Amino acid sequence: MITQLHWMPRARLFFFRSLRGQLALWFGGLSLLTLLSVGLYVGRLTTQQVAATAGASIHATARAAADLLGASLREHELDIVLLSLAPHFTRGELTQPAVLRSLEQRRQLREEYAWMGVVSPQGTVVQAVDGILQGQSVAQRPWFIEGKKRIYAGDVHKALLLEKLLPQQASSEPLRFIDIAAPVRNLEGTLVGVVGAHIHWRWVTQTVQAAFDQHARDQGTEILIANADGEVLYPQSLVHHSHLAPVAPQGTGARYARLRWDDGQEYLTSQVTVDTRTPHGLGWRIVVRQPLEQALQPAHALRSRLLALGLLAAMVFSLVALWLARSFSRPIEQLARAAGQIERGDRHADFPVDHRLAEVEQLGQSLQSMTTALLAHERELATVNQSLETQVLQRTKALETANLELKRLATRDPLTGVHNRRRFDDKLLECFQIGERTGKGFAVLLLDADHFKQINDTHGHTVGDAVLQQLAQLLTENTRSVDFVARYGGEEFVVLLPHTPGGEGGLASAEKIRTAIASAHFPASERVTVSIGVSVWNPADANARAIIERADKALYLAKDAGRNQTVAAT
Ligand code: GH3
Ligand code: MG
Ligand code: MG
Repeated sequence: MITQLHWMPRARLFFFRSLRGQLALWFGGLSLLTLLSVGLYVGRLTTQQVAATAGASIHATARAAADLLGASLREHELDIVLLSLAPHFTRGELTQPAVLRSLEQRRQLREEYAWMGVVSPQGTVVQAVDGILQGQSVAQRPWFIEGKKRIYAGDVHKALLLEKLLPQQASSEPLRFIDIAAPVRNLEGTLVGVVGAHIHWRWVTQTVQAAFDQHARDQGTEILIANADGEVLYPQSLVHHSHLAPVAPQGTGARYARLRWDDGQEYLTSQVTVDTRTPHGLGWRIVVRQPLEQALQPAHALRSRLLALGLLAAMVFSLVALWLARSFSRPIEQLARAAGQIERGDRHADFPVDHRLAEVEQLGQSLQSMTTALLAHERELATVNQSLETQVLQRTKALETANLELKRLATRDPLTGVHNRRRFDDKLLECFQIGERTGKGFAVLLLDADHFKQINDTHGHTVGDAVLQQLAQLLTENTRSVDFVARYGGEEFVVLLPHTPGGEGGLASAEKIRTAIASAHFPASERVTVSIGVSVWNPADANARAIIERADKALYLAKDAGRNQTVAAT
């Protein structure tokens, strides 16, 4: 479990650091970046394009509606003007039935006329279609006041009085009207009356809506009518709720704009002034607006599709990159595995040397030949190492032998082979110190060949040497293995007997040696004797030298006593 926990993050990390991981990430990232930026750029372009198209479209709608409304209003104005110029009118015969007939004909032709009538210069309705308002005064009405002076077209208004008198309408909307009036003058130019008409507001809105197709309605586009002050007249739902900025001057090139309306929403908005081609026009404008969100919807949809496509492409690119990287990295991983095997001591691991990528193939071949060369070198080194080890072993052995020989030379007497004087001095000191420490006594025998000069003189130095050698051998043969025999100098020898506390032991050993030498046969000189001085360690001895001095004195005594003697020191 622990190893698995440990292994998981490492393996994951390995993926991100691996060739395939890196390639997949880079490919995916770059393609995502490219497609995202292309998507965003194209989306932006499309948004501009779509906004321009939608703007042009709502402008066209506004223009068409304004033209239609303008032309229709003009027609109605002309209607009234023509009436005012009719002969009965200009003759001032306003009470004539022909006048009423003209009015009724108009009314029949155009249902939108809610009311038509002629008014006396004092403001009394002289005649009216269906007799409505006949005899009543309209002297205070703006249309009458203005209509006395010129052709007048008036803003939409409610007419409560008229509403009651007119036949009931199906719509729940309050009845509203626009007024048209024109002065009636006789041939002398004197005002004889005013012709007035109320047109159903419904007709105006229907005219405007006629320029506005269903498709545009489905796109959330709305058509509005506003008066010269920017107050919305239509639709009813926006009356008193929305107010427009002054209309953009015609010909500025800005056919539409993005505007934030009073409801806080942004709209593509286009306004066109309704032109009735009369000196005192209404100054209305047709406003067409479309919620920006809805206008740009096609662009947003395209952008979403592009982004989705981008993501999909990035994924596909990543997978392709992963697949490519896997086929590239597999031989590299094989190379790494083979190298690992060789590192762990498997000398038979092979590098893959065939691949469709030339570089990988080259790498494999190079690694293979490098490994072969290194392994050969390794074998050579092993052989050299072995021979070096053998040599070192031989040299060490020779050195040990030489050391032993050196040690032997340093401690042995070269002529006789027994210990030399230096070695004896060490041994004596060692035994003296042991004696001091433990109280264990020892004895020293000092020997001197008798009349040795004579042997030399008689038989020559070589014979003398041979005698010295035989004496040493006799000493070795007649002492214990623990005893220490040394050549003291010239024809003098010394024997140290450890574990020999009393003088008797030493004396006995000395006697044994002396008799053995005296009875031995010496080939060249027949008989050789020795004198021996014996001394033993004394706890009172100040130093080792004292023991030798005592033995020397005893030896002198032995010589003095006639030689071939053993004397123990007192
Ligand atoms: P004494 O009985 O009094 O000891 O008589 P001595 O002749 O032995 O007396 P001395 O000590 O005077 O003589 C010793 C001789 O030993 C002298 C010397 O030439 C001889 N000598 C010493 N060392 C060697 C040696 O290594 N080889 C030989 N051949 N002779 C040696
Ligand atoms: Mg001597
Ligand atoms: Mg001598």
